[in-house]
Amino acid sequence: MTEKCGVVGVSLDGRNAARPLYYGLYALQHRGQESAGIITHDGFQQHSHVDMGLVGDVFDEDDLDQLNGAAGIGHVRYPTAGSVDSSCAQPFSVSFKSGSLGLSHNGNLVNADEIRDELAGMGHAFTSDGDTEAIAHDLARNLLDADLVRAVKRTMQRIHGSYSLTIMHDDTVMGVRDPQGNRPLCIGKLEDGYILASESAAIDTLDGELVRDVRPGELVVLQEDGQGFDSYQLVELENTAHCFFEHVYFARPDSIIDDSLVYEVRRNLGRKLWEESGVESDVVMPVPDSGRAFASGYADAASETTPDGEERDEHDDGVEFAEGLMKNRYVGRTFIMPTQDERERAVRLKLNPIKSTVEGKTVTLIDDSIVRGTTSTQLVQLLKDCGAEEVHMRIGAPPIVAPCYMGIDMATRDELIAADKSVDEIAETIEADSLAYLSTDSVADVLESDRIDLCMGCVTGEYPYDIEGEETDRAVDRPAVGEGTIPADD
Ligand code: SF4
Repeated sequence: MTEKCGVVGVSLDGRNAARPLYYGLYALQHRGQESAGIITHDGFQQHSHVDMGLVGDVFDEDDLDQLNGAAGIGHVRYPTAGSVDSSCAQPFSVSFKSGSLGLSHNGNLVNADEIRDELAGMGHAFTSDGDTEAIAHDLARNLLDADLVRAVKRTMQRIHGSYSLTIMHDDTVMGVRDPQGNRPLCIGKLEDGYILASESAAIDTLDGELVRDVRPGELVVLQEDGQGFDSYQLVELENTAHCFFEHVYFARPDSIIDDSLVYEVRRNLGRKLWEESGVESDVVMPVPDSGRAFASGYADAASETTPDGEERDEHDDGVEFAEGLMKNRYVGRTFIMPTQDERERAVRLKLNPIKSTVEGKTVTLIDDSIVRGTTSTQLVQLLKDCGAEEVHMRIGAPPIVAPCYMGIDMATRDELIAADKSVDEIAETIEADSLAYLSTDSVADVLESDRIDLCMGCVTGEYPYDIEGEETDRAVDRPAVGEGTIPADD
C-alpha cells in the first residue's frame, strides 16, 4: 500500500487547536483528497473526527467545536486503489496503559510487514492494513517502559523507509522526520504557539513564520504552553534521500522545502532544460498548471540565448511565451484518477486549446513529467488538430522508469511509458516532433544537492532504501528486526 499525504500538528497557548489544524489541512489538500482527520487533546481526553472526503466536506462548525484542546494533529490522505476505506484514514489513534497516542504519517515503510508480524506475534491486534498502525503499536509498546524521547528513538531504529510523522502523546505534540529526510516536514511559529506541517504553505495560511525544516532523523517536541519546541537529533546518517519529486511535482509552488522555494526551483529547472535541449519554436507553452513555472524559466532562458548558448542580438525576438491550453478547473488531476478509461476522458474534459495561439505555429509544450503517456499523446494531438505545424515536448525532470516505494502512487512498471521505451520511441508513441527530458545531474545542480543526497529511485531504478528485488544506490543501514531485540539506549 502506498499513499501520498499531508500532516500537521499544533500546540497553542490556551486557544483550541481545531481551527488552525483545519486551515492547515486545507492548505495541504493537494497532498491527499480521499480522507481527512483531526485529533485534539484537552489535557484530560482525546477528541477525534476522521472521515472520508475533502477537508471542506469532512468538517462542519459543530465538528470543529467539539474538537476541544490546545494540542492536536491532522492528516489528509490519498491512498491507492484497494485501500480506499475509512480503516486507513488518519490520524490513527490508540489508547494504552500509559495514555493515548495519535499518529499522522506521510511516507511508506519498507519493513512494515516484518514489524506487524512481530507485533501480532506478541498479541497486538491490528484494525487496518496500513503501516501507520504498525508504527503506532510499536511506539505504544515502547512507551510502556521508556520516556517519550527514548521510546521514539527505539521506534525509529526499528522502522525503515520514508516517514514524516506528527504524533500526539496525551497533549504533547511531536514531529519526526526519517533519518534520510525523504518526505518534507517543517516547523512554524504562530502568534500563540507552534506548528509542524508537511509544507510551509500551511504555516503561511495561518499567518505564521517558517522557522526551519525538521532535520532528517530529528524529533521535535512542541512545548505544551505553546512557547517553544525542543529538538532531539535521534538518528544521524551520512546522506539524506530527499524526494526530488516534491520540488518537481508534489509540493505547492509557494512552499519552501529544504530551504528552497519550490516555484524558483521549477523555474530554474526550466532554464536548465533550455540549456540542455532547447529547440527554436514560435511559441513556448506550459501544460497547465504543472508545467507553468518550468515553461516560464525555459522561455526566459530562450529569450536570452540561442539553443547553442549564443547570446541573442537585439533584433532576434527569441520565442514567445503563451498560454495555449485552457484548463477547466472543476476537473481533478488526471494523476489521481483510478482507471485508465477515466484518465483518458479527463484529459479532454480538462484542457482546451486556444486556436489563435497555436494555428500555423511551431510549438514547444513544457511539462514536469510523463507518467503513462496518455495525457501527452492527447495534448500533442489536440495541438495538431488545432493547426500547430510542429509540437516539441520538453520535460523538466528525467524519465520515470520505475515505481516509487516511498509513499507515492506512481503507477507500476508496466504502466510507465519510459520503463521500456527510449526517448525517441516515446516521442514516436506520443507523436511529438521531438522530445527531451532533463538529466539527473541538472536536477541535482538546480537543487544544489549532491546526487547521493537525493532519492531518484523512480528515474534511476536505484533506491536509497533496501527494497526486496530492487537495486540500491548506496550502502543502506537497515535496522535488524524480527529477533525480538530492542536496541540499547545510549
Ligand atoms: S522514488 Fe521518486 S517519487 Fe518516490 S521518493 Fe524517490 S524520488 Fe520521490
